[in-house]
Amino acid sequence: MKTALVCGAGGFIGGHLVKKLQKEGYWVRGVDIKEHEFETSAADEFLVLDLREAENCATALTLNEGTFDEVYQLAADMGGMGFIHSAECEIMHNSALINIHMTRQAADMGVPRYFFSSSVCVYRDMQPGEPEMTEAQAIPANPDNEYGWEKLYSERMALAYERNQGMTVRIARFQNCYGPYGTWTGGREKAPAAICRKVAEVEDGGTIEVWGDGTAVRSYTYVDDMVEGIFRLMHSDLQGAVNIGCPEYVTVNELVAAVAEASGKTIHIKHIDGPVGVQSRNFSNERIYSTGWRAKYFLKEGIAETYAWIEQQVKAQKT
Ligand code: NAD
Repeated sequence: MKTALVCGAGGFIGGHLVKKLQKEGYWVRGVDIKEHEFETSAADEFLVLDLREAENCATALTLNEGTFDEVYQLAADMGGMGFIHSAECEIMHNSALINIHMTRQAADMGVPRYFFSSSVCVYRDMQPGEPEMTEAQAIPANPDNEYGWEKLYSERMALAYERNQGMTVRIARFQNCYGPYGTWTGGREKAPAAICRKVAEVEDGGTIEVWGDGTAVRSYTYVDDMVEGIFRLMHSDLQGAVNIGCPEYVTVNELVAAVAEASGKTIHIKHIDGPVGVQSRNFSNERIYSTGWRAKYFLKEGIAETYAWIEQQVKAQKT
C-alpha cells in the first residue's frame, strides 16, 4: 500500500486531499497545528504538530519502516485578502519556516516525491483583457503581496533541493479555491466563502457589503477539481510550477450574482473600501491540461454546493 503524508490536513484543501488519496488506495498520515475545524479528519493517522519546528517536521516524516512514498506540503499561515494584508509578518515568518524545515527534512530523509502548494499570487497584477500568462512569466517577479513573495521563495527552495538532492518536486500554483469544509467566518475566509456567509445571513431583498467596486476579475476553482489536479500533477513528469485553475473568469459582482442565484434571494450590494488585491487575472492552463485535467465545476455548480454548506453552518450557529 502506498503511503502519503499530508501537511495542513486540518485545513480546507488538505482535508479534501486526504479523502482523495484514501479513495486512490493510500494509507495517509495527516499533520496540522490543529484538528480539522469542521469534521473529524479522515486520515488513517493524524498528528497535531507545529511544522515551524524542524524536529516536528522530522516526526511527521518518520515511519516505522522506510519513508513516505509521497509528501504533500499544504501547511501555511493562510487567509483571504483581509488576512493577507493585515498579517504580512506572520505569513512571511510562519510559512517560510514551515517550508524551510519541511523541504529540507523531506530531502534529507530520502522522500522520493514532494508536492508544494504555491499560488497564483506569485504573479504580478494584470489588466482586464491581457492575454494569458504562462508559468514562466512569474519572472521577473512583482507579486502584489508578501504571501506571494513567500510562495515564490519556497518554490525556488523546493526546486533547489530537487536539483541538489534528487528529490522529485511538483509545484502547483492554485487559483482561488472554494467549496464546503473551508473557513467561512472569523477573518481568514476568502471571497467566495465570505460572500456566501453574508448572503446566508441576510433576508431576501437585503444588502451585503463588498470590498472594492466589484470589478476585480478572478477565477474560482472548486475544491474537488483542485485535489484532482494535485493528484494528476504529482504523478506527472511536469517539472517546475504548474497553474491549476478553472478557466471561467468573473468579476466580484458576478460572483455575488452567482451566490444570490444559489440562495434564491434578491441581493443588493453596497461597495465599501477594503483590501481588494489585484485588478485582474488570466492564466494559461496548458501545462495541467497536458495531464488530461479539466475543471468539471464551473462557478454556478461549485457555488451551489458551497452555498448550501455555508447556509447550514450559518443556521447551525444561530440555533
Ligand atoms: P487552510 O488555512 O485551510 O489550510 C492550511 C493549514 O495549515 C491550516 O489547517 C493550518 O492550521 C495549517 N498550519 C498553519 N500553520 C501551521 C504550522 N505551523 N504547523 C502545522 N500546520 C500549520 O488553507 P487552504 O485553503 O487549505 O490552503 C492550503 C494550501 O494551499 C496553503 O499552502 C495555501 O497557501 C495554498 N493556496 C490556497 C489557495 C486557496 O484559494 N485556498 C490558493 C492558493 C494557494
